Amino acid sequence: MENITNIFREKKLKLTPQRIAVYKYLLSSKQHPSAETIYKALQRDFPTMSLATVYKALKTLVDVELIQELNVGEGNFRYDANTNPHPHIQCLKCARVDDIDGIDFKELNVKIKPYTDYDVICNQVYFYGICKDCQKEQSN
Ligand SMILES: [Zn+2]
Ligand SMILES: [Zn+2]
Repeated sequence: MENITNIFREKKLKLTPQRIAVYKYLLSSKQHPSAETIYKALQRDFPTMSLATVYKALKTLVDVELIQELNVGEGNFRYDANTNPHPHIQCLKCARVDDIDGIDFKELNVKIKPYTDYDVICNQVYFYGICKDCQKEQSN
């Protein structure tokens, strides 16, 4: 939490209770929630907070690089407080998004070099499949 205080002070941004709540929620979650999920989860503690406020808080947190935005599909934005590059996998049945640990694709940034005149900085890898729970359901 020290991190967010320092960064917001540095960038001269207002650290509102809503922004802190959105960030805290993301830190506590491995689920890669959407804005709607965060909005619903914070309703109890912040009954007057609108979905628009959640979106604005998320945008600010992305801008200061405290969180990352994942675009796992058309109009399907998810948020992650883990800003280290790591691959994600989404279930095509229930839409859950999980991290894939223990592997990274940094070497892709080098591999891609002969095919582009860009100075490659990063990449985002998404996999799609059927999660364990949905596999169980299918076999029932
Ligand atoms: Zn699933
Ligand atoms: Zn992640």
